[in-house]
Amino acid sequence: MNVHEYQAKEMLARFGVPVPKGGLATTPQEAAGVARELGAPAFVVKAQVHAGGRGKAGGVKVCKSVDEVQAAAQAILGMHLISHQTGPEGKLVRKVWVEAATEIARELYVAVVLDRGAERLAVMASPDGGMDIEEVAAATPERIFSTRIDPGQPLWDFQCRQLLFGCGLDAAQVRQGTGLLQALVELATAKDATQVEINPLAVTAQGKLVALDAKINFDDSGLRRNPDVAALKDPTETDELELAATELGLNYIRLEGNVGTMVNGAGLAMATMDVIKMAGAQPANFLDVGGGASEEMITKGFEIILDDPKVEAILINIFGGILRCDVLAAGVVGAARKMDLKVPLVVRLEGTNVAEGRRILDESGLNFSVAGSMSEAAAKVAQVLEGAA
Ligand code: ADP
Ligand code: MG
Repeated sequence: MNVHEYQAKEMLARFGVPVPKGGLATTPQEAAGVARELGAPAFVVKAQVHAGGRGKAGGVKVCKSVDEVQAAAQAILGMHLISHQTGPEGKLVRKVWVEAATEIARELYVAVVLDRGAERLAVMASPDGGMDIEEVAAATPERIFSTRIDPGQPLWDFQCRQLLFGCGLDAAQVRQGTGLLQALVELATAKDATQVEINPLAVTAQGKLVALDAKINFDDSGLRRNPDVAALKDPTETDELELAATELGLNYIRLEGNVGTMVNGAGLAMATMDVIKMAGAQPANFLDVGGGASEEMITKGFEIILDDPKVEAILINIFGGILRCDVLAAGVVGAARKMDLKVPLVVRLEGTNVAEGRRILDESGLNFSVAGSMSEAAAKVAQVLEGAA
C-alpha cells in the first residue's frame, strides 16, 4: 500500500527524522492559511498524489509569499498531474501540502528497500539525489552505495559511515545521517514497509540533513497488525474496480490488455494469463474468484470485468472443485442478462457438476464458445479478437 508524501513525513517525524514544518490544504484559501501560520520566509506547495516525478510535472512550486502560495494552490488543485509514474491519463490532485522552504546546499538520495532476492533489507545512498535514481543507476551505478542488513542484526554504524562518507558528507553530517538511516530501518521493520525512500535528502545551507520528499510503501500483508498504517489508505487513489472487488472479497487486479478473465484459484489465474499471452493476446485483469464464491459473487465479479471499457472478449477458466460449475454458470448467466453482454465469451469448464454447468450455459441463449483445454481457450479468444480487428 502506498501513502501520500505528507503521511510518510508524519511517520518519519515520529521516528525522529527531520522534515520541514507544513500543513495540508484542499482549497487555495486553506493553503494560504497554512502558509500564514507557518510564517516562513518561503514556502513550497506540493501536489499530494500517489506518484513521483511531481516536480517536473508542475506539481511542486516554490513560493515567496502567502499570495503566491494561494495562486500556486489554485493552479495545482484540480490539475491532472501527468508524470512518468501516472500513465497518460494523469492523476487528479485533491490535496496540497504546504511546507516551509528549505535552503538547499546539496540533494542526496537514501532509501531502505526490501531486497526480496537477498531476503533482507537493503540500505542505499547516493550523492546524486533529487533526480531520477533510475537514471543514476543506469548511467553511473558506481555513484549508488548500498549495504544489506543481516536478519536479527541492526544497521551498524560502520555500514552507515561507508554509505554516508561515500556521499561526501562531513563528520557531523555522517553522525546525523547515521541516526537517520537507523531510524528508517526501524520504521521499515516496525511498520512492515517494503520501501522507505527519501529523495531528496537535503543538506541545508546550515549543514543539516532534512527529508524534503518521502515515499513509503507498506506490505499489504502487514496491515492487519499495523492499524495505524491501514488507516492511512486513500480510497481515491485506488482503482475503483479494484476497490469494488476488494469489498466483495474478490482478488481482482486491473491490467493493460483487452481479454477479461475469470478464473478460480490464483495459480490457475496466473497460468491463464500466461496462455493468453502465449496465444498473442493480452489479459485485461487478474481475477481469482476463489473456492467459496457464491452465485452472487460470480455475477458481481463478471460485472466488474465488464465495467472495464477496455475489455473486448472474456475468457472463463474454471476447474470446479469447491466452486461448482453450475454455480459459476448461473452467476455468469445472471450477469450477462443484466449487463446485456456484447463481447464474445469463451468458456472452459471442468470438474464438479460440469454437465449441469454446460446445460445452464447452453439453455441461456448466450452467445459463447466452449473450449476443451486451456490453450484451446486462449487460442479461441485470440482468434475472435483478430476476427473483430
Ligand atoms: P517529486 O520527487 O515528486 O518531483 P519532490 O518532493 O522531490 O517531488 O520535489 C521536487 C524538488 O522540489 C526537490 O528535488 C527539491 O529540489 C524541491 N523541494 C521539495 N520540497 C522542498 C522544500 N521543502 N524546500 C525546498 N525545496 C523543495
Ligand atoms: Mg522526490
